Amino acid sequence: MRSRSSASLFVAGAAAGHLPGHNINHFAHTGTAGEASEPLTVARSIADIRARLEERLEKGGTAGLVPTMGFFHAGHLSLMRAAQGECPLVVVSIFVNPIQFGAGDDFNTYPRDLDRDLKLAAAAGADIVFAPTDTELYPAGFDTMVAPGKIAEGLCAAARPGHFQGVATVVAKLFNIIRPGAAFFGQKDAQQAAVIRRMVVDLNYNVRIRVCPTVREPDGLAMSSRNTYLSEAERSQAPVLYEALLEAKAAVSAGQRSTAALKRQMKRKIAGRYLAELEYVKIVDPNTLEPVAQINKNVLAAVAARFGRARLIDNMILSPGGDNA
Ligand code: AMP
Repeated sequence: MRSRSSASLFVAGAAAGHLPGHNINHFAHTGTAGEASEPLTVARSIADIRARLEERLEKGGTAGLVPTMGFFHAGHLSLMRAAQGECPLVVVSIFVNPIQFGAGDDFNTYPRDLDRDLKLAAAAGADIVFAPTDTELYPAGFDTMVAPGKIAEGLCAAARPGHFQGVATVVAKLFNIIRPGAAFFGQKDAQQAAVIRRMVVDLNYNVRIRVCPTVREPDGLAMSSRNTYLSEAERSQAPVLYEALLEAKAAVSAGQRSTAALKRQMKRKIAGRYLAELEYVKIVDPNTLEPVAQINKNVLAAVAARFGRARLIDNMILSPGGDNA
């Protein structure tokens, strides 16, 4: 594992002239004494990121990629640390991907703070941040999409038609631009991870997919950039998604095997919070996302609900063996 004894910020390319160029040592984590420190590089164009990768990987090896939409919280940072633990170079992409948002979605209001993100990424061990503009990834004439199949039909697809096509397309583009050896995703977005795993197999990408555990607030709420939308009252009720999942896990440990009964129990629990507008409760195979009726192997329990402006999702693996994660 590499570590950085100090970090500073280097912005590559003239297009990045408006970005902050200050030193960010005070955010850097402490590394091995005497180890040479490399500055965090920010690349704004595809040509830029390719040039930086060539420089930084001239002795060989491949990068670990952490694809994100920015506005970092501890969940994002855990992926960067995981990447740092197993890859010689960590690339974090920050891109609010317009093609994965639907007409009524929050593309315009999605929280953004690149300056803050750069400091946090440097401290979490990122080497290069790739923050392209919309037209860099989708120039005029762009007309090709990656279309995931059945795996992108259930769960979140009903409320977000076209979402996973947008996700698969941007991740495929990032894989082609950066050519990572490994890519890091969060279990919080379980369907996204399943779609990407499927795509990697089906389209023969030579990249290891790592799915890291969901990072939570102390009261169990899964961290999300969208939690900033929650009012105080909504925030106090939002942990019910986690509580419902925990109760399902306890019921499975106590011997419940019927997913219909478990879903009823979870729906009742969530209905008890008047600000929660339930979208779905599903219990599915963790790899195929096909519905499961009886639990005789690990299953994925997944929930989605709106609290005011915020659409929140959460999930948990339920294991009949008792080893629930
Ligand atoms: P986003 O910026 O929301 O697109 O998320 C970027 C990556 O961070 C995705 O792989 C997410 O699954 C992951 N992620 C988001 N929230 C969490 C969390 N609470 N714990 C772990 N990973 C997360």
